[in-house]
Amino acid sequence: MTTLGMPPIPARNTAEHTGPIRFTDGHHFTLSPDADLAALVDQATAPMSVILQITKRCDFDCNFCSETMQMRDPTLADLESAASNLAGVQRVFLSGGEPLLRRDLTDIVEIFTDGFIIGLPTNATRGVDVAPKLAGKIAFANIGFDGPRSTFQRVRGDYDKVMTGVNAFREAGIPISFSTVALRSVLHGLPYLLQIADVLDVGKLKLILPLRKGNALDLPENEFITVEEARDHFARLMELRTTHAWTPAVRMTPWTAETEGHMLVIEPNGVTRAWPVYNQPDLWMPLGNVFHEPITDIWQRYPYKENHVRKYLGDSIMTCARGDR
Ligand code: SF4
Repeated sequence: MTTLGMPPIPARNTAEHTGPIRFTDGHHFTLSPDADLAALVDQATAPMSVILQITKRCDFDCNFCSETMQMRDPTLADLESAASNLAGVQRVFLSGGEPLLRRDLTDIVEIFTDGFIIGLPTNATRGVDVAPKLAGKIAFANIGFDGPRSTFQRVRGDYDKVMTGVNAFREAGIPISFSTVALRSVLHGLPYLLQIADVLDVGKLKLILPLRKGNALDLPENEFITVEEARDHFARLMELRTTHAWTPAVRMTPWTAETEGHMLVIEPNGVTRAWPVYNQPDLWMPLGNVFHEPITDIWQRYPYKENHVRKYLGDSIMTCARGDR
C-alpha cells in the first residue's frame, strides 16, 4: 500500500502494494494513468525510497566512486532503530560501500523484511557466498555493471568475479538490475551492455551520470557528458533496443534542477541527507538522524519532495519500461 496520501504517522507497508503506485518487474515504481501526481506530492508524508548505508567499506575502488570516506558500521541495534523510524517508506536500499561485506547481512535483511521492499545495491563479488542466503528475502539486487569486459575492468574491477556473482544471484532466483555510471569512455559499450542485460534477463538497466565527489574528482573533465549528450545517447540506445527486441527497462538520470536532491541517503551514523544538492559542500544537505527521529519528521524539512516523488515515478528522467517496444 502506498504511503502517499496516508495519515501523518503511517503504518509499515506490507509487501502487497496497492493503490496508485505499483512496483514493477522492471524494479521501479509506476503511477496508474488516472492518478494525479501533483496531488500525490502534496499528500506524501514519507519518502517512497531511501538509501541506507550499512557500511562504507568496499573491496573495489571504482574510478567514479563518490563514497570514499570511511565511517564505523552501524550496529544491529542502530539498524533496528532505523527500521522503526523508517515506518512509512516503501523501499529501502541496503547499500554501501559494499553491503555483502557485512557478515551479519542476513540479520540486517531480517530487520527490514517486514514491511519494506528491499533493494540491494552491490558489486556482487561475494555473491557466491551470500546470494543463496538472501533468496526470497530481497526484492532485487542492483549490481554495478559497466559494460563489456575491457570497459568494466578499466573503470570498476574484476569482470569475471562479478559475472560469477551475477550468476549466483540468478541461480538463487533473485531478480537483478544493472547500474552503470555513464562516463564518456563507457558510452560506446552501452549497446553491448544492454544485450548482456537482455541475455541475463536483467529487469532494469539504470544509467546515471557521474557526480563530482570522491574518486570522481580525479576523472578527466571530458568523462562528464552533458545532459544533451545523455539524451542523445539514450535515444540511440532506445533505437537499438527496439531493433533487437531487448527487454530490460532502461532508466537514465541526468543531473538537472528537476533531479537535484531527489535521493535521501542515510549514512552509517544515521545522518540523513538530501543528495545531490549542487551548491552544498560534498553535494549533500544534512536533514536529521533516522536513528533518533522518525523519517516523517525529516520529510517535513526536506526541500526536494517534488523532485523525489517525480524522479522515483520516472517523471523527471529518461525511461523505457520493461518489455516496451
Ligand atoms: S562504486 Fe560501489 S563498488 Fe565501486 S568502489 Fe564505490 S562502493 Fe565500491
